[in-house]
Amino acid sequence: MAVMQTEAARAKTIEDLIRIVKEHDPQANTERIREAFAFADQAHEGQMRASGEPYVTHSLQTAAYLASMRLPENMIIAGLLHDVPEDTTYTIEDVQERFGEDIGSMVSGITKLGRLKYRGIERYIENLRKMFIAMAQDIRVIIIKFADRFHNLETLDALPSKKAYRIALETLQIFAPIANRLGMGEMKGRLEDASFQYVYPKEYEWTMNLSKTTREGKREYLQHVLGKTQDLLSQAGIQNVEVHGRAKHLYSLYRKLLRHDRDIARIYDLMALRIIVPSIADCYAALGIIHGTWTPLKGRIKDYIAQPKPNGYASLHTTVFCDEGEIVEFQIRTPELHNLAEYGIAAHWQYDESKGQTSMSTEHLPHAEWIKQIRELNSEVANTNQYMNTLEEMKIDIFKDRIFVFTPKGDVIDLPEDSTPVDFAYVIHTEIGNKCSTAKVNDRIEPLGTPLKSGDVVEIMVDKSRKGPNPDWLKFVKTRYARSKIRQQAQVTLKSWISGFMPGGDV
Ligand code: MN
Repeated sequence: MAVMQTEAARAKTIEDLIRIVKEHDPQANTERIREAFAFADQAHEGQMRASGEPYVTHSLQTAAYLASMRLPENMIIAGLLHDVPEDTTYTIEDVQERFGEDIGSMVSGITKLGRLKYRGIERYIENLRKMFIAMAQDIRVIIIKFADRFHNLETLDALPSKKAYRIALETLQIFAPIANRLGMGEMKGRLEDASFQYVYPKEYEWTMNLSKTTREGKREYLQHVLGKTQDLLSQAGIQNVEVHGRAKHLYSLYRKLLRHDRDIARIYDLMALRIIVPSIADCYAALGIIHGTWTPLKGRIKDYIAQPKPNGYASLHTTVFCDEGEIVEFQIRTPELHNLAEYGIAAHWQYDESKGQTSMSTEHLPHAEWIKQIRELNSEVANTNQYMNTLEEMKIDIFKDRIFVFTPKGDVIDLPEDSTPVDFAYVIHTEIGNKCSTAKVNDRIEPLGTPLKSGDVVEIMVDKSRKGPNPDWLKFVKTRYARSKIRQQAQVTLKSWISGFMPGGDV
């Protein structure tokens, strides 16, 4: 079973792609893949990416990601051809004629996803809706779209910064949550980490440095625990054990830090040790051995094997007081569960060495229920507002803990749940936060402390003569940023007020 690749596969030429394909699927019909490449190459002839490279490098790299996920030939070919109808003189019919119904329909699905006509909230809903429609029809389309998006993110530097920001934000708001909901942990992590620096550049730097220093400081220690764990398990007679360290994805670490007052000492899974053992019984045996050696922290033993997460994730987790009192998290799973944790729903199209090519039904997947709901939703709901409300009612947890509200111009602002117009104002601009006086939510004047909901359009009126924020706002603001700015301003105001009484005095 392939272990997680930390570096994404690279293909600069068709030979690189063929090599990756053969590594994972020795029986693939590489002639068809070469044919598709030649067609794409000719169709995109003369077109350049913003980076200055020939356009087809993008098609090739999209296909390479799919190949490295061990996905079948038809998906790789659809990856090669995904931009042909959109950007060249060839049509979907041309693709269909040359490469057949199945590939034609995937390419058509991807092409439809690409066309968005609205802006602002309308665009957001349209986008979401198109993703759901594509998903209900053929999940493979979404998987190809993820690969396409991942390469676009990797080449964002070549785009004007406003456009880069929009694409990265859309990835964090729509693509990554859907990847997560489909159990595609590795894809979700990669999409988020590639977007992070464009949406929150300062926070990205901060998280990156924090993660790096902390990991470096712990490297030797973890090496020691890793070796000891391996010895313990083999002494207990558990065969074919693999233990490796896994560093938490940066964006997910950042989100967790925000929930824990930015205190890295409270993040126990910054570095986790992953134990891969042959069977489910071995998983529980390994857990027993770890608990027999080190004391587990209360409330942190999680049996996601008996009770998988809604997205299908299954493993045993425990956090223990390890040697020298250091806190270490362990994640225990079988190779099959490991593969499912990385690839989620995509695992069902993967090449399986023991059985040959598979094309399993998705009906019995943990994600199947959610996809069924999406299908029903798509067929029932025609209008966009109703769509948004129904999503809310279904409590689809893809946007758990976050809300998305809109400026009057239609820009999307992403806030923690129960945020208020004051939080919103501080996100727009510190001065707007400091001087906000009235808020309109969906065109109605509402108190500044009103909790906002996803889809609200928020407008802030400022009072320029206002000295600074009202300390009472601290009672209801939800974002750390707003809280710190209000405190800061309150101090400044107090200082200048006092200094007014001091002879010549700055305080
Ligand atoms: Mn593309």
